[in-house]
Amino acid sequence: MMNVAIDGPAGAGKSTISKGAAKELGFIYVDTGALYRTIALNAVRQGVIDNKDDVVKMLDDTDVKLGFENGVQCVYLNGEEVSAYIRTPEISMGASKVSAIPKVREFLLDLQRDIAKKNNVIMDGRDIATVVLPNAECKIFLTASPECRAQRRYKELIEKGENVKYEDVLNDVNERDYNDSHREIAPLKPSEESVIADTSELTLDESIALIVKIIKEHM
Ligand code: C5P
Repeated sequence: MMNVAIDGPAGAGKSTISKGAAKELGFIYVDTGALYRTIALNAVRQGVIDNKDDVVKMLDDTDVKLGFENGVQCVYLNGEEVSAYIRTPEISMGASKVSAIPKVREFLLDLQRDIAKKNNVIMDGRDIATVVLPNAECKIFLTASPECRAQRRYKELIEKGENVKYEDVLNDVNERDYNDSHREIAPLKPSEESVIADTSELTLDESIALIVKIIKEHM
C-alpha cells in the first residue's frame, strides 16, 4: 500500500487538492479533520465543549466511523451520518479545541492507521507525517499565506450561504493557526522529510498537478 501524508494549516486547500490528486491516482482520500470535527460536534451537542475532562469522559460513549461512498468520505457519530453538520465555524473552532486534548488524539489514532494499512491513501491533517503515518512513502506540507487561506475559506462559506465577514474568517484562521502550532501535543509543523508546497500563487489545477507530480516522484 502507498501512503501519502499531507499536512498543513487550516484553509490551505488540503482537502480540495488532496481529493483531486486522489481521484487522479485512484487513491482513497481521508480527511482526518472530519474526525476531530465529529468529536467537537458531539461535545457541542452534549454541552461539554469547554470542559476538557468532560470531553474525555464523553469519549466512552462516542463511536466514530468513516465510510466511503463512490469515493466520497462520510463520517458517522454513533451510527448517525453527520457529514452535513461539521462544517460550521462553531464546529471548526470546537475541533481546534478538542484536538489539543491528548486522549482525543489517542482515541482517533487507530482508526486513521487502520484505513492506511488497508488502502492506498492520501491522508490529510496536521500530524499525519509526524505521528499518524511516520512511515508514509510521501510526505507533503501544503501551505499558503493566511490572507490567501482566509479569502478561500470566506468564499467557500459565502457560497454555502453562511453569513460571515472576511475579517472574522481571517481572525479564525489566525487563531486556529496559533492553537494548532502552539499546542503541546502534535503541534502543526512539517516533518523533516516533508516536501513543502506553497499554493498561494497557484490555481487549483496547478496545485493538484504539483501534488500529483510530487507523489509520483515518491512511487
Ligand atoms: O482540517 P480541518 O479544518 O477540518 O481540521 C479541523 C481542526 O481539527 C483543525 O483546526 C485542527 O485543530 C484539528 N486537526 C488536528 N489533526 C488533524 C486534523 C485536524 O488536530 N490530523
